Formats: sequence, C-alpha cells, structure tokens
Amino acid sequence: MKIKQRKFDVVIVGAGGAGMRAALQLSEAGFKVAVLSKVFPTRSHTVAAQGGIAAALGNITEDDWRWHMYDTIKGSDYLGDQDAIEFMCRHAAEVVYELEHFGMPFDRLANGKIYQRPFGGQSLHYGEEQASRSCAVADRTGHAMLHTLYQRNVSTNTQFFVEWLGLDLIRDEEGEVLGITALEMETGEIMILQARATLLATGGACRIFEASTNALINTGDGLGMVARAGIPLEDMEFWQFHPTGVYGAGMLISEAVRGEGGYLINAQGERFMERYAPHAKDLASRDVVSRAMVIEMMEGKGCGPDADHLLLKLDHLGAETIQSKLPGIREIAMRFAHIDPIDAPIPVVPTAHYMMGGIPANYHGQVVAPYKTSPEEVVQGLYAVGECACVSVHGANRLGTNSLLDIVVFGRAAGNQIIKDLSKNNHHKPLPQDAAEQTLTRLARLDSQKDGANVAETSADLRKTMQTHCGVFRFPSVLKEGVEKINAIAERTKYTEIQDKSRVFNTARVEALELDNLMEVAVATMIAAEARHESRGAHAREDFPERDDQKWLKHSLFFSKDKHLDYKPVRLKPLTVESFPPKPRTY
Ligand SMILES: Cc1cc2nc3c(=O)[nH]c(=O)nc-3n(C[C@H](O)[C@H](O)[C@H](O)COP(=O)(O)OP(=O)(O)OC[C@H]3O[C@@H](n4cnc5c(N)ncnc54)[C@H](O)[C@@H]3O)c2cc1C
Repeated sequence: MKIKQRKFDVVIVGAGGAGMRAALQLSEAGFKVAVLSKVFPTRSHTVAAQGGIAAALGNITEDDWRWHMYDTIKGSDYLGDQDAIEFMCRHAAEVVYELEHFGMPFDRLANGKIYQRPFGGQSLHYGEEQASRSCAVADRTGHAMLHTLYQRNVSTNTQFFVEWLGLDLIRDEEGEVLGITALEMETGEIMILQARATLLATGGACRIFEASTNALINTGDGLGMVARAGIPLEDMEFWQFHPTGVYGAGMLISEAVRGEGGYLINAQGERFMERYAPHAKDLASRDVVSRAMVIEMMEGKGCGPDADHLLLKLDHLGAETIQSKLPGIREIAMRFAHIDPIDAPIPVVPTAHYMMGGIPANYHGQVVAPYKTSPEEVVQGLYAVGECACVSVHGANRLGTNSLLDIVVFGRAAGNQIIKDLSKNNHHKPLPQDAAEQTLTRLARLDSQKDGANVAETSADLRKTMQTHCGVFRFPSVLKEGVEKINAIAERTKYTEIQDKSRVFNTARVEALELDNLMEVAVATMIAAEARHESRGAHAREDFPERDDQKWLKHSLFFSKDKHLDYKPVRLKPLTVESFPPKPRTY
C-alpha cells in the first residue's frame, strides 16, 4: 500500500499548553511546524485548568524562587530531580510575564500587578508561613492560557492538523526518531509525517481510572507510542488523586476554593484536616489531604447514607467572593452536584487527576533512555513535554498550579533545544523501508479480527481494575491480584474487534487504538506500584507505610516488551544552589 507522506522540520503531537508553547518558539524561529491534535486545539485538557500557575512574583506575600523550589522538592517527597526543579522555578516569573505580554488576561490587584492566590504546599522561608504564589485568571486560568497560545500560533503560521490521531513513532536502525504515522479521522487515511524533530505533548492519562477529572481524550497516547518503540516509562506508580472531585460526577472543584478560604468537613461537621496537618490544614499537599479523606471515610465519618464522601464548605466566603473569584466552580457545583455553594457545601471525593510519571525526559525536553552504560542517553530526534513527560519536576506528588508552569517552561525549553539541534543538521534522514509497517500491521489486525474482545467492555474492565486495585491506598494482596487481572486484560486487548470497519469518522477504530495506549499505561502503573515497597508521595502502601530512602530513593523505568523494571538514581544536585537533602515531610 502506498502511503502519503509529508515533510516538516518539526512534528508536534498535542496542541495543549505544552505543545503550543513549543510550537510558538519554533514557528517564530522560522521552522515549518506541524501540530496534531485529536480535538480542536483550544479543546485540549489545558482548557479545563482552573486554579492558576505558580510563580514567585511576590505580589501579595513576599516570595523567592528558592522557596518555590524547596516547596516543590518537599511536595515531590524528594523524588523530583533537583536540577529540573531549579530550572522550572527560576524561569517561572519570566514565563508568566511572557504570557502576560502575549495578552493573557490575568486577574489584577488594585496596584495593577498580577493577582496571586495561596495554594497547597506553598510556603515562605522554607516552610514557615503560607505563600500566595498562584497567578490566576478567576478559576479559568487554563482557558485563558490556551486561547492566548492558540492565537499567537495562528499569527506565526503554525500548521494545525485537527482531528488527527498520532499512532506510532518511526525509528531507524540507529534508534533515531524520524517522524510518526497518523490517522486522519475525517477520511480514515493513514499518513507518514516525516520530521527532523518529533515532540510528544499528548497530555495525561487519568482515563485509566473509573473516577477521573480528566477529559475523555486523555488516554496516554504518547506513552503508548513510546512504549511500543521500546523506550521505557518512568515512575508510573505515582498518580495524583485530587481531594475534591464532585462526588458521583468526577468534575474537578479547584484547590483554589481552599486557597480562597474554603475547607473540608466530615459527617460530624468537623474540620478534620486540623488533626492531620495542624499547620497547613486544608492546604497540605494533595496526597496528604486525599489520604486523610479516605481515612475519615474508612472510620465511618464520611457523609451521606453510605458515608462515602465529604463536604467542601465555602458558603462562609460570601456570594461576592464566590461570584468574582470562583464563578466556574459555582457553575460546576450547580450543574453536577445540584448545589449552589453560596448556600450549601459541595459533596466531594478524592478523584484521579494527574500523572506524575511518563516519558523519561531531561529539562531540555529531550527524551532519555538507558543505553549501554548511561541510564539517560538522549534518544535522537525525540522530545517530550507537558503532562506526558516525566522530567521529573513533580516526583512522587505534584503541587497545585505547578503543572501549568511545567508545560510553559519546558514547552519553551524544548523549543529552544530543538532550534539548537536542528541548526546542526538541516537534512531529513531517509525513512526506513518499513516506516509504516508497525501501524499497518496494527490496523490490519483490527480490521480482520474475528470473535475478538469488545472495546468498550475491555476498557471498562481496565478502568475498574485500576480503580479497585491501584487507588489512594494500596494493599499488597489487592495489588498482586491487580497485576494478574491487568495482565489478563492486556492479553484480551491484543484481540480487540470492531464491528464498524468504515473509514469516515470511525470513532470505534479510534477508541480501539486509544485502548492500546491506555493498556500500556495501566500495565506499567500496576506492575511498578506492586514492586515499590515503600510509601512516598501519592504511592501509599498499607504494608510499607514509611518512606525508605535507603532502598527507594530512585526512579522506576518500566519496559513494556518484556514487562521488566529497572531503576535510575534521583538527581539530587541542583544546577547552581545547594541540594535539599531528604528529610521527614510534615505539613
Ligand atoms: C480539571 C483540571 C484542572 C486543572 N487545573 C490545573 C491548575 O489550575 N493548575 C495547574 O497547574 N494544573 C492544572 N491541571 C493540570 C494541567 O491542566 C495539565 O497537566 C496540563 O494542562 C497538561 O497540558 P498538556 O499540554 O501536557 O496536555 P493537554 O492540554 O492535555 O493536551 C494534550 C494534547 O494532545 C493531543 N493528543 C493526545 N493524543 C494524541 C494523539 N494520539 N494524536 C494527536 N493528538 C493527540 C490532544 O488532542 C491535546 O491537544 C488541571 C487538570 C485538570 C484535568
């Protein structure tokens, strides 16, 4: 079969904040850039980000990027790489001002400066008092950011491929990445997009869980592409459960609510976080709050007839604050919980929200994998940024509003690194003969499968298994059983079948292909979680309740082909400042 081909300098898979910030850097520099997205760019999940973007501007409380760095390292439970964290926190103010100059309509203080709200885990003077560090556009910060970046990209002639599904990486014999294969959903046609640099910015993958704050499109496609190409996935055992998803619906109620003064109560009306985190209370980091909520429910202090949720109280903030600072939250509460938070508390429950692990990358956005003697050899031609990448700035637990920061800091950094790398070579390497073979084999299998597994049922089983066996608290026997179950579901996924074989807008085919990616993510998660015998950040084991720096201060690397795990050291040495050595973490 003759496959159409197109050539670009750079192909970017993903039009969220990360992909678009990188694209802007590159198209401004005059490169021919293609950006693929499953949905219209401004519908990427970044649009749903509510609370803000962290930067030590010091507009309300005094602030310093070194305090931000310390908070991020502590929040990561010391698994974050300190060079990358320094890089992110040092550049935070710069990228926020840059967004401001691009036209992002930040909320303002009376003196004209950018408004900043307090968020969990943010402190002054290395842990002393609460800082106000999150720059916000009401509770619609991601919306404002994504539209700003899209408009800039339109003006710099970035080429968008809307409703295209990136499928597989193309690698040559030396392992260099030379582009991707992709499916145009409208026509069902497969195309090769050849590139001198390929950047993955495909976002998160919380759709492996039943209850998730994530968009339906967050299926971990970049991780699937990388895993199928023989590159490992890093730190997949670490998933953030956000304390306040709407009970029964999953929609997110931003931490900004607690930043503005809201707090959680149990069935007895008690502000229970005072017992778990006497200092930071409801603004302790997310893993701490989510675990406290689960303990309350296990002790029978949950709300409702089944004691299976808690309440987020904000009516005391007053109608004016709620209407001006949290209008989107009010709308979500009214629509999905049928409650007006001006009058009554919102029923909430910890909900899967963010993937700390992902594609191993350094702070220049280059993908790195073990090769010969180095655990971090650069994979030529391949880059990853945003939630799909593990840099790792979030380690075992991400602090609120650090992800919008991560996507713009590293989106820009990857753009700059690609500019540098491409200036050394301005030729496209020839594609291998079998460039599209992996993809065509997958599609042919799917089209000819008889008596196979139903896609919707298989993905429902996957989500149920992850939710039951790999949640906020992890129990040894439950994890062990989870590994068996998820391996069995992975086996079924090899034989998925679709009834509808038509070409035009065949969403059944798209969902089957997405399931392959979800599966890669789920298997990596379950096996890595079962293997890590300690509790750190979001990974909380009942049988190993303590953090174990002696044995486990290391990143996991999961290889899909033979399902084996390897480990690499955490980078404890920052770029210019002194290291923050691990110490007990309290809030
Ligand atoms: C409800 C919610 C609220 C949040 N609030 C905040 C907040 O206030 N502050 C904060 O810091 N963080 C927040 N986060 C986290 C943060 O928003 C995300 O981590 C971040 O926006 C991810 O950006 P991204 O560019 O990596 O990916 P996304 O914005 O998810 O974009 C991914 C892109 O990849 C494309 N894509 C995926 N697979 C393919 C494929 N196979 N082919 C083609 N295209 C593909 C998609 O179409 C999309 O364009 C929130 C997250 C959620 C879910």
